[in-house]
Amino acid sequence: MGSAVAYFLKEMGFDGSVLVIERDCSYAQSSTALSASGIRQQFSNPLNVKISQFGAEFIKGAKDRWGVDLHLRENGYLYLANTPEGVQILSENHTMQVGEGADVVLMDPDALADKFPHLRLDDILLGSHGQSNEGWFDGVGLMQGLRTGTYISDEVVGIDMADGKVARVKLATGRAVECGVFVNAAGPRAALVAAMAGIDIPVEARKRTNFLFDCMDAPAGDLPLMIDPSGVWCRPEGKHFLTGCSPTCDPAVAFDDFEPRYAEFEDIIWPALAARSANFEAIKPIRFWAGHYAYNTLDQNAVIGPHTDISNFLFANGFSGHGLQQAPAVGRALAEWICFGEYRSLDFSPLGYERIVTNTPLLERCII
Ligand SMILES: Cc1cc2nc3c(=O)[nH]c(=O)nc-3n(C[C@H](O)[C@H](O)[C@H](O)COP(=O)(O)OP(=O)(O)OC[C@H]3O[C@@H](n4cnc5c(N)ncnc54)[C@H](O)[C@@H]3O)c2cc1C
Repeated sequence: MGSAVAYFLKEMGFDGSVLVIERDCSYAQSSTALSASGIRQQFSNPLNVKISQFGAEFIKGAKDRWGVDLHLRENGYLYLANTPEGVQILSENHTMQVGEGADVVLMDPDALADKFPHLRLDDILLGSHGQSNEGWFDGVGLMQGLRTGTYISDEVVGIDMADGKVARVKLATGRAVECGVFVNAAGPRAALVAAMAGIDIPVEARKRTNFLFDCMDAPAGDLPLMIDPSGVWCRPEGKHFLTGCSPTCDPAVAFDDFEPRYAEFEDIIWPALAARSANFEAIKPIRFWAGHYAYNTLDQNAVIGPHTDISNFLFANGFSGHGLQQAPAVGRALAEWICFGEYRSLDFSPLGYERIVTNTPLLERCII
């Protein structure tokens, strides 16, 4: 997010200086490096649909822009519903998504069986499949493309205020940096950084474990990222598959706790996948890792834009598992705010900090 803001500031010809402060330039534990790098149009909130539409356009444009192919595999997401409530949610979402121009189709069990013959569909009532602008891409490639301008390897450890505004940030090395505008792009550590300016933000580090698995009898075809009603998701990754789940127990974790939860594979993921497809009965994890969602406990949506009182403190926080695809639109929005004092391309004000102050959730029902 920090790189995305810096990139668009440069694109817009910002005449100030921009400094990205990064505590770990290896990015080894950043959410970005540990992400599943999916992009979808299937959200329940129209603004999130628009944000991802720009994300897809930007990712597809990387070849012309940077000479780099970010390998967007447009195999789509496939949501499956097995209850009347699930059908209602998919149907309501579909109406809104199509209204926003998203290329999403609803599929009854016969249509699903035709297109995805490897699935067991006895309990399934409806599927929803994104046919374009949806799939997965090279997330680290996107970050590398966005990295621009001046970076320093240091940690923000304090924020000095003057006249109700951020005046300077203090760094772990003892240096202090004056700033006209400060953007909090600290990922899962967003609340720590906000607290340095006396600001509360309901963002916690929540652990998600991803597993790469080998499949003895892999299903053929251009498979989508399937989201099973159990919350388990699975998609192809080269000749293997990538999978994960929404954990049943999901506490905030320490910022340095990256111990994978291997039991999720045995207890939740394998049983759900084996029940969904005979092809997934014989599978073996070959790599697994844990990363942190910057989880917004109010409404699982991003918090974007200026603080309500401290006008030069900007948020790019709380992405709750769907932030990588949002980086282009968020970077553009915050750069517009900094350069012009307003959003010009897409109005991000519904995602502003005011809803945190008034405790008014802007719910996103499609969280994976
Ligand atoms: C397992 C997993 C799967 C995911 N899958 C998807 C997906 O399929 N699609 C999708 O769109 N999103 C996905 N996400 C979410 C997505 O990865 C994040 O929303 C996005 O990468 C957030 O970017 P960020 O820049 O906010 O955070 P980060 O990438 O975490 O970057 C924050 C940076 O701030 C630095 N930092 C923190 N504190 C300080 C400080 N005090 N001083 C200096 N530097 C500091 C950190 O070192 C870090 O490099 C997933 C996340 C995880 C963990």
